[in-house]
Amino acid sequence: MLDQKAEAYLKSCEQEALELLIRLAQIPAPSNREEKRAVFCREWLEENGAQGVYVDQALNVIYPVYSKDQESAKQPLTVYAAHTDVVFPDLAPLPLTVEGNQIRCPGVGDDTACLTALLIAARYVARGLRQGTLKPKDGGVLLVCNSGEEGLGNLKGSREICRAFGEQMREFITLDGQLDRLAVRAVGSKRYQVEIRTQGGHSYGDFGRPNAIARMAALIARLYEIPVPEGAKTTFNVGMISGGTSVNTIAQQAQMLYEFRSESRENLQYMEDHFMELIRQARAREDMELSLTLVGERPCGGDVDEQAQEQLLNRVRQRVRELIGRDPKESAGSTDCNIPLSLGIPSVCAGAYYGGGAHTREEFVEADSLKDGCKLALSLILDHFEVQD
Ligand SMILES: [Zn+2]
Repeated sequence: MLDQKAEAYLKSCEQEALELLIRLAQIPAPSNREEKRAVFCREWLEENGAQGVYVDQALNVIYPVYSKDQESAKQPLTVYAAHTDVVFPDLAPLPLTVEGNQIRCPGVGDDTACLTALLIAARYVARGLRQGTLKPKDGGVLLVCNSGEEGLGNLKGSREICRAFGEQMREFITLDGQLDRLAVRAVGSKRYQVEIRTQGGHSYGDFGRPNAIARMAALIARLYEIPVPEGAKTTFNVGMISGGTSVNTIAQQAQMLYEFRSESRENLQYMEDHFMELIRQARAREDMELSLTLVGERPCGGDVDEQAQEQLLNRVRQRVRELIGRDPKESAGSTDCNIPLSLGIPSVCAGAYYGGGAHTREEFVEADSLKDGCKLALSLILDHFEVQD
């Protein structure tokens, strides 16, 4: 899958890749606060010979690699990305421990291990360009350490890449998750914050006045009576609720977070329609106020050329198979691919490590799996280069 030179390069930096992972994993990077990791990635790339690296307005670190003679023209591009943000709000360095083969740190796998694999591959490209041993073919690639994949990051980084380069993008590959899995379709979602306000009052003296918590509870009970539509898997969830003042106060305020998901646009619309009808009915009551804020929206897949999508999947599937000795599990997912897929750009999400506990503080990576992740990243990226002797 790789030539001898590339194999030797990866062999020579196995230990260094682990050290890089350990350094990166400790740098805090909550969604929308990725600046420290962005600076680290830009500097690391520059120190390792990458030219033209920049950080865009969304805090994506972009390393563009075009063929020289095509630089000015709008050449077709393939994007390889791994996200810098983690779900943990910490602004202090994240706690990391190494026990045998396990590197344990919040966010170490999702998505720091994949980000490490992307950086190690990017350095090989930078060296090859400098030494004249690699030449981009068919346009070029963008290697991107992107921001805002998790929760309230709302795919900010991926949106910005598609806004800036969408017309040129031929394919989009994000490295996110475990080696034996591919996300091949997009699960779309919408996330709302609902707030209810009432007059409130004393629990005894003003008994009978509307209670914001009771009204919210009634709304939630009705939301849970919505039958999920047929066809593609469709889910909903109330994930947080808060409100009220004290045990002897008629609550004046309550709020909650609600989301629904599906990989079918029709089903997502069905959930939206039913949700909005209940909101409309609640708003019709004169003794309460209801406000609604859209806090997240991830689109479903759009009109992607089936053949082009299958071609991309085959290329990635085959590489993963060569590495792990079996077919990866394929499913729909909510990833950075949602944005390009919604725009009709063939996309896939592949993984670069083995580990566990993603999105928990007990998250870990199996250290000896990272070399396979580096190999996957480099072998995919090298498909876009000619080797010069
Ligand atoms: Zn992730």
